[in-house]
Amino acid sequence: MKSNCLFCRVVAGEIPSTKVMETERVLAFRDINPGAPQHVLLIPKEHVADSLADLDLTDPEVTITWIELLKLAQEIAGGSPDFSDGWRLVSNVGENGGQSVFHLHMHLLAGRPLAWPPG
Ligand code: AMP
Ligand code: ZN
Repeated sequence: MKSNCLFCRVVAGEIPSTKVMETERVLAFRDINPGAPQHVLLIPKEHVADSLADLDLTDPEVTITWIELLKLAQEIAGGSPDFSDGWRLVSNVGENGGQSVFHLHMHLLAGRPLAWPPG
């Protein structure tokens, strides 16, 4: 755990969150400032990377975590009518990507038509 990392502190329970689902390695919780009617954040419980840019997919353990995260997104979206009209899974990287929290995460968005390309 990185003590100065917001999402590590969410995982540790030091910052409250609204959990959607969790697995051994991944936590899904509601974004505090939703950009769509459904806005779920999926994060590895361990601080395996600051962003997708430095995720080491040559490390088998990291790869298992990453696949678990994608599977959890499928499971959340597949298990609720709120996602039946479609959804988006996105990870912001760096300044131009709009990243504000530097603990790897993905946004799962649904519940209205989502603009493309994004603004
Ligand atoms: P990003 O800008 O891609 O790094 O995404 C970070 C997201 O974390 C933003 O959508 C924020 O609204 C969200 N966020 C920040 N603090 C919290 C929190 N305490 N609980 C839930 N979501 C948060
Ligand atoms: Zn962290």
